[in-house]
Amino acid sequence: MIEFQHISKLFGSTRAVYDFNLKINEGEVVALIGPSGCGKSTTLKMVNRLIDPTDGRILIHGENIRKQNKIDLRRSLGYVVQSIGLMPHMTLYENVSLIARVQKKPKHVVRRRVEELLDLVQLPFQKYKNSYPKQLSGGQQQRVGIARALMNDPDLLLMDEPFGALDPITKSQLHAEMKTLTQKLKKTILIVTHDMDEAFQLADRIVLMNQGQIVQVGTQREFVEEPRNEFVKEFLQSQLGGK
Ligand code: ADP
Repeated sequence: MIEFQHISKLFGSTRAVYDFNLKINEGEVVALIGPSGCGKSTTLKMVNRLIDPTDGRILIHGENIRKQNKIDLRRSLGYVVQSIGLMPHMTLYENVSLIARVQKKPKHVVRRRVEELLDLVQLPFQKYKNSYPKQLSGGQQQRVGIARALMNDPDLLLMDEPFGALDPITKSQLHAEMKTLTQKLKKTILIVTHDMDEAFQLADRIVLMNQGQIVQVGTQREFVEEPRNEFVKEFLQSQLGGK
């Protein structure tokens, strides 16, 4: 589904990402994790071309994304960020349907899709369609962000610290909902997080980065039972503590 081939990114003399290689299968949920500044967000942003790599290629369905039109590429992907970015003066209906309306999709098709999505993220359409973002809790707003990212039914969903700003209780509630959602949707998801608990809960595979490079790729079991080196052990220890 998606393949990173020898991806590097330099910002001046800062090596944000270096020789990053990874294949993600269709329907897989992969978490990018690591200490602050290790290159997670830069890696994610190279997939929707908010950043272009200095070296290497990214293929989606075998096609080099550098050769695709940026706008078309972004419309084919879902993107959820921590800051959510909902329009405060628009209702939930208007927020979720924004891109589809810009694309002039037929009204009844848009309406049906918004209805389906709001119900999916457990904000019943009839009750919430005319609400404004400020009338919702942080967790509810984040769910609207997820519904909006799913509007065009993307194969690939990119999530950058989507639950980072939430309190622990809301966060763990959303993790559980997200898990159910990912099982239902069967979409390929690449999620950036700095929280190993979150990665363990949501991802099929975890990619641990340090200083722009991959340190270990594996499942929860592989990380716990076969940490590759001291860095992995210390990272797990610092994150999970006595758990
Ligand atoms: P993470 O998401 O893991 O916290 P980032 O990918 O945001 O890390 O950053 C990786 C490194 O690249 C950091 O050293 C950061 O300071 C640097 N960096 C990121 N974006 C820019 C930018 N636009 N200009 C210069 N340096 C940047």
